[in-house]
Amino acid sequence: MVKVYYNQDINSSLEGKKVAVIGYGSQGHAHAQNLKDTGHNVVVGVRKGKSWDQAEQDGLEVKTVRDAAEEADIVMVLLPDERQTQVYEEEIKPGLRAGKSLVFAHGFNVHFNQIVPPADVDVFLVAPKGPGHLVRRTFESGAGVPALYAVYQDQSGHAEETALAYAKGIGSARAGVLKTTFKEETETDLFGEQAVLCGGLTSLVKAGFETLVEAGYQPELAYFECLHELKLIVDLMYEDGMSGMRYSISDTAQWGDFVSGPRVVDEDTKKRMKDILTDIQNGKFAKGWLLENQLNRPEFTAIANRENEHQIEKVGRELRSMMPFVKAGKEKQKEVVAS
Ligand code: NDP
Ligand code: MG
Ligand code: MG
Repeated sequence: MVKVYYNQDINSSLEGKKVAVIGYGSQGHAHAQNLKDTGHNVVVGVRKGKSWDQAEQDGLEVKTVRDAAEEADIVMVLLPDERQTQVYEEEIKPGLRAGKSLVFAHGFNVHFNQIVPPADVDVFLVAPKGPGHLVRRTFESGAGVPALYAVYQDQSGHAEETALAYAKGIGSARAGVLKTTFKEETETDLFGEQAVLCGGLTSLVKAGFETLVEAGYQPELAYFECLHELKLIVDLMYEDGMSGMRYSISDTAQWGDFVSGPRVVDEDTKKRMKDILTDIQNGKFAKGWLLENQLNRPEFTAIANRENEHQIEKVGRELRSMMPFVKAGKEKQKEVVAS
């Protein structure tokens, strides 16, 4: 097995270094607060507005992106991927003096050549393998979200130690930290979210829901069956793998899993997954996403609006309003309603 780093394996520290967390969204608020709680010197870099006010309210030092990048030794870029290049060129790059570290939580912009860092800084990534709100929530509960790290440029000769110390600082070394490359992190992260975690999952849930509703079954029941119960099943897989989950379900369910699962996801599905991976590897996906943003997201907005009005969402909103207990942490989650 490859080396997985845990707290006790990491002796390096960020002592004497100031960390600028640029952006205070999903990942930003979690990194900034976790690093502060583990005794680090943190400044948040954002523009005036909601994030600025929130970071101040959370007791953090807040400055403009330009000032934070200027005064910090380690600059962690936690802005939306599609905004990073512009903010980097205008507000981060001017403060990147020799010897500093430029850090990312996803390799997208460096790997796809949108950000070309100067040669005299360390460049690495620390990418938690989980949503930002859980990076904070698990940290607060004494646990952590695993992370990947990768070194792109090691000017100081210490980039790897700094990356590991950073991962420890956000609590990820409680769960396990794994070494990768910018290429591997970028491609696998995009593939995972497209084919399995987000795209594959939402399409699977919708198809199941629609199949039941179109056959005349109650939409509320279809919601419970295809969406609500998913978390309970996934929790079992998270805790104990697929066998652990199968141990808890009935043998009837397990037999159905064995004989029908491969009819839903078959060799053709896998072939299409390979096509998706190819489009990630050859840059086609990245190009499309960057162009979509340059055009002010016409297709993204249209699809987001349509998805938000899908029957499963309408039914779900009603049912969840009667289950306040499922909303833990919801107030912190970012608005997903497209404008
Ligand atoms: P978010 O969309 O949550 O980031 C929003 C933050 O960026 C807000 O604080 C926002 O401030 C700020 N921001 C946006 N534009 C600007 C600007 N022009 N100038 C200054 N601040 C700006 O990002 P994520 O946390 O989702 O993603 C950050 C990085 O982490 C990405 O590289 C992503 O791939 C990676 N990542 C994300 C994960 C996740 O859980 N979301 C998981 C693992 C990696 P304002 O309020 O002013 O708009
Ligand atoms: Mg990811
Ligand atoms: Mg991602």
